[in-house]
Amino acid sequence: MTLRIIGSSSAGNAYLLDGENESLLIECGVPFGKVEKAVNFEFSKVKGVIVSHEHGDHAKGIGKCQERRIPVYASKGTLDAIGATGDCHVMEHHKMMRIGGFGVIPFKVVHDANEPFGFLINHAEMGTMVFATDTAYLPSKFAGLNHMMIECNYSTSILDENMKRGAILPMVRDRIVKSHMSLDTCLETLAANDLSQVRNIILIHLSDGNSNAAMFREIVERNTGIITTIAEPGVNVELNINPSF
Ligand SMILES: [Zn+2]
Ligand SMILES: [Zn+2]
Repeated sequence: MTLRIIGSSSAGNAYLLDGENESLLIECGVPFGKVEKAVNFEFSKVKGVIVSHEHGDHAKGIGKCQERRIPVYASKGTLDAIGATGDCHVMEHHKMMRIGGFGVIPFKVVHDANEPFGFLINHAEMGTMVFATDTAYLPSKFAGLNHMMIECNYSTSILDENMKRGAILPMVRDRIVKSHMSLDTCLETLAANDLSQVRNIILIHLSDGNSNAAMFREIVERNTGIITTIAEPGVNVELNINPSF
């Protein structure tokens, strides 16, 4: 299974879990041409798109997905907030959905959106992965993970520095702190979960101005001893459960 990073920031998010015969799109918040390229225009290979919440940087391509007959999956709150019409599949907290060979269990996250979800995703070609973005922290813990895609949005010290020099307003700082994950919370979250089977950590949704990718990667890798990748457009990560890989 290859994870293809199409976009991962407040400018637009989309990720493709690209398997041998089928794939799953996570988010569709980038210009749709980028999705078309990533799936190589083979829309029938894409078994579905799962959308975490209604913000445009995650959801603006839902209509385009439907035009290409990619089934849409999201919470009722998300679909309502978008005003999605047509064929959509409603996801519920902790209720597993089968999407082709993918098993997806949605779980609640903490974000300023209607009914935002993170996803626990399983597939025979990659094992189990948690996907959590746009969340102040993770209310749930997980066992048996093989891969983690987790938001690492900002560093509190960089954020405070930016506020002090007037680059961001206190109001904006408050919003970020209440709805996105800091480096420290990311590290606490990683420490709170069983990482014994985790082979990849992928840090996603880094803030443009309030993060430092090289530093984040280095700190997370040093703290966990697990290969850590920063999600940047065009980056591919092989998700494999074979230890020899
Ligand atoms: Zn976002
Ligand atoms: Zn959001």
